[in-house]
Amino acid sequence: MTNYLYQEQNWQSQMSDLITQPKELLDLLDLSSDQLLSGALLASETFKLRVPRAFAEKIEKGNSLDPLLLQVLPHHLELEDHEGFITDPLGEEEANQQPGVLHKYKSRFLLTLTGACAVHCRYCFRRHFPYQENLPKNDDWINIANYIESKPEINEVILSGGDPLTISNRKLQLWIERLESIKQLKYVRIHSRVPVVIPSRVDDEFISILKNSRLRIILVIHSNHALELDEYTCSKLNGLVENKITLLNQAVLLKGVNDSANILANLSYKLFDIGVMPYYLHVLDKVKGAHHFDLEPDTINQIYTELLATLPGYLVPKLVREIAGEKNKTPLLGTETF
Ligand SMILES: *Cc1c(COP(=O)(O)O)cnc(C)c1O
Ligand code: SF4
Repeated sequence: MTNYLYQEQNWQSQMSDLITQPKELLDLLDLSSDQLLSGALLASETFKLRVPRAFAEKIEKGNSLDPLLLQVLPHHLELEDHEGFITDPLGEEEANQQPGVLHKYKSRFLLTLTGACAVHCRYCFRRHFPYQENLPKNDDWINIANYIESKPEINEVILSGGDPLTISNRKLQLWIERLESIKQLKYVRIHSRVPVVIPSRVDDEFISILKNSRLRIILVIHSNHALELDEYTCSKLNGLVENKITLLNQAVLLKGVNDSANILANLSYKLFDIGVMPYYLHVLDKVKGAHHFDLEPDTINQIYTELLATLPGYLVPKLVREIAGEKNKTPLLGTETF
């Protein structure tokens, strides 16, 4: 059994003690840094390596193909250019209505509260997004409130980023209180990978903020592999479920990480065991630097068809792609199109 040193450590001290050097990560994992071609180091200059120690502890030592490691370790292939793989595949720069607001779908919009993430996922479609110019300042709130009130069809705000759970509980509470003051809003969704990579983020104060809101809170976590969900992480997530927070999971289908029906089925069962419903399975956004995670459409269809035949319907995540300009995420069937 792995010996966990960091899992339960205070989340803020973990945030200020992230692993940022590829060599340190490889040393910790008993992997030789000779494997690190200079290209991988270069890749980590444009999009820095960033790994919480609690997440590193879940990676199997000595296994250079560990599915958790592959999600975070810079790779020289990131430097290659591939046709169709661009810096802003989702056209987000255009959909940016005003600082912090990314409104593409009718009833809900993303409110980006921070550009920071606890972990840097190499496949991330936001790896080139100019966050810092886009963040709301305190006095932007009045404009955001006016924006919401000018669009009565909005009933949900999705806290996003970066990763919204890298902000303090105090700030989070402030934003939730602001949203509560707008009558038309019913739901607040939080999209975050932090509960998976630093599970101690789910502390009592956080739970009580969510529990005591008049708004219905939905936490959408991001886990790509059942190995990310060890006992401590599960107990933390279960604590939220017990307090009637709705928990959903989104995953990204990634070559070398979770590209088999078996792995995805295990993930769904594991999530269900702790009260988290599988929500989306995203196909990779064609972002520059992520081509080595990409799968052929035929392979995707094969995996998804098998997944459909493996799981009960309620545990099958919806296979979707985000297409710039569409009114919603586009469902993919996993069979021939008709
Ligand atoms: C994904 C996304 C949402 C949420 O979409 P749901 O289908 O409701 O989960 C909202 N706004 C933007 C811009 C998105 O990319
Ligand atoms: S946590 Fe989410 S936003 Fe941040 S790098 Fe990973 S996928 Fe991207």
